Amino acid sequence: MRNENFLKELHAFMQSKGFVYGPFPEIYGGIAGFYAYGPLGKLLKNKVENSVRSLFFKNGFRELECPTVLPDIVWEASGHLKTFSDKTVECSKCKSIFRSDKLIEEFTNRETAGLKNSELLKEIKKIKCPNCQSNFKEEIKDYSLMMKTEVAGKAFSLRPETATVTYLPFKRLNEYFRKLPFAVFQIGKAYRNEISPRQHLLRCREFTQAEAQLFIDPKEKNNWEKYEIVKKEKLPLYTGNHQEKNLKLEKISLEDAIKHKHIKTKAYAWCLFLAYNQFISMGIPKDKIRIRQHLEQERAFYADDAWDIEIKLSSFGFVEVCGVHDRTDYDLKKHSEFSKQDLVATREDGTKFIPHILEIAFGTDRPSFALMDLFYEKKEEKEGKSMFKVPYHMAPIDVAVFPLMKKDKLPEFAEKIKILLENEFVVDYDESGSIGKRYLRAAESGTPYCITIDYESLEKNDITIRDRDTEKQIRIKVSELKEFIRKLLNNEIRFEKAGKLI
Ligand SMILES: [Zn+2]
Repeated sequence: MRNENFLKELHAFMQSKGFVYGPFPEIYGGIAGFYAYGPLGKLLKNKVENSVRSLFFKNGFRELECPTVLPDIVWEASGHLKTFSDKTVECSKCKSIFRSDKLIEEFTNRETAGLKNSELLKEIKKIKCPNCQSNFKEEIKDYSLMMKTEVAGKAFSLRPETATVTYLPFKRLNEYFRKLPFAVFQIGKAYRNEISPRQHLLRCREFTQAEAQLFIDPKEKNNWEKYEIVKKEKLPLYTGNHQEKNLKLEKISLEDAIKHKHIKTKAYAWCLFLAYNQFISMGIPKDKIRIRQHLEQERAFYADDAWDIEIKLSSFGFVEVCGVHDRTDYDLKKHSEFSKQDLVATREDGTKFIPHILEIAFGTDRPSFALMDLFYEKKEEKEGKSMFKVPYHMAPIDVAVFPLMKKDKLPEFAEKIKILLENEFVVDYDESGSIGKRYLRAAESGTPYCITIDYESLEKNDITIRDRDTEKQIRIKVSELKEFIRKLLNNEIRFEKAGKLI
C-alpha cells in the first residue's frame, strides 16, 4: 500500500539533494512518468549499473547494445502489437483514464492478477475517480503500451523492452560464440506508453532496463554444471499452491526447490539465483526480498515458468523488481517465421534445433529508487537533517575532503588531497560552514568517509578520516591514504582496526 506521507518526504529529499528531478521538464509543468537523475542520483544509478555489469561478467555473460527504435514487423512477430496493452477505465465525468488493476490494488488492496474484465468491473464500481470523485464508465478498454514513431514514412515503435531486440542478432551471436549455451545482456532505455503513472521511478514512460538472455539447448536445461555450485544456496521462495491460497514464505535451497517441483529445471534455478544475487550485490537487505511464482493466468503468453523478485519498500510496500522467465523457443520461432530466416543451432551430432531462452528481466531505475527508499532516514526534529545510510560500496560519493579553515594554507593542502584521490574515487570538496554542518551535508549524500585537514596536517603530513555511521575518527598518513580508502570500500579492513581512534 502507498505511504503518501513518506513518499512526499522522500521526493522532497531526492529533489533538494540532487538525486532525482521531476516529473520532467519541471519548468514546463512536467509530464508524468518522466524523471531526470541529478548529479548524486546519476552517480548512484551508475553504481547500480556497474554492479549489474560486474556480476553478469563474472558469470560469463557478454554485453550488447542494440537500437531502441525498430520497424513494426519486429513487434508484430514478438506479439507486442497485439497483446502488449493495459486494461483501462475512463471516468464518466472528467474523462481521466486509469489502469483498472492499479486502481483496484491501490483502493481495495485486492490482488488483480488474472482477473477477467467482468471481475475487474465489479471492483471498479466500488471506487471513485481519484481526480473528481465521480463514477467510472462501465467498460474496460485495451490500451496499447507501445510508443509509436515514424522513420522514412514507415511505422516504427520504440522498444518496450530490450529482450526482443537481443534475439534479433541471434545468427550473428551464434557465429560469435560458436556454440551453445551462450549468454548476453543489454542495459538500455525502453519506452512504454503508461497510463497516468503515479509511482515515481517505479513506473516511467522512459526507463532503463537490464535484461539478460541465456540461449540454451532444451536438452541441456537439466544438465547445467553451474547449478551444482549454487544448489545448496537458499532463496526466500513462496511455496505452496496459489489457487488454494496456502502459500508460505520459506528459505529453501535450490536443490529442495527442484526436488519439490517448485522450480522446473536446473538452468532456471541457476538464473533465479543469479537474479536474486544481483539485488544482494547492490546492497538490498535480504530481509526485504521475496520471490514469488507467477500464477498461470498472470504468466506472459510466452513463459513456461516465471518468478518475480519483489522488494518491500517503505513507500509502496512490495514491488516487483525482476522477472525470471523461461521463454522456451517462442521468440526465435516467431522471428524465424516473420523474417523467413532459419534461427536454429546445430548440435555436435549434426541435428538442428531452436534454442530455448531463459531470461532475467529487470531495470536499473527500480533498484536505484529502492536504495533511496530503504536507506533514506529522517533525523530527529531538532537537528532537522536527514541521512542517506546507503551501503558504503553503493554511495554516490566515496569520500569528501574538508579544510578545517578557509585560510593558512589549509585549502591548498586539501586541494592536493582531493587531486590525489580523484583519479580513483568520486570525491567531494567542501569548505563552507562549520565542520559539523559539512559532516551533516556529507551524511545526507550518503558519503561514507570524510577527510579533514587541520593545522597538524601541515606539520605531520597526515589527515583525520571519519566514518559516516560510527562517527569514529582516526589519523592517518597521507602516503597511506589511498590504499586505506580502497581497502575500506572493498570491505578488506575494519575502520577501527586501521589506526588509533581520536
Ligand atoms: Zn474524474
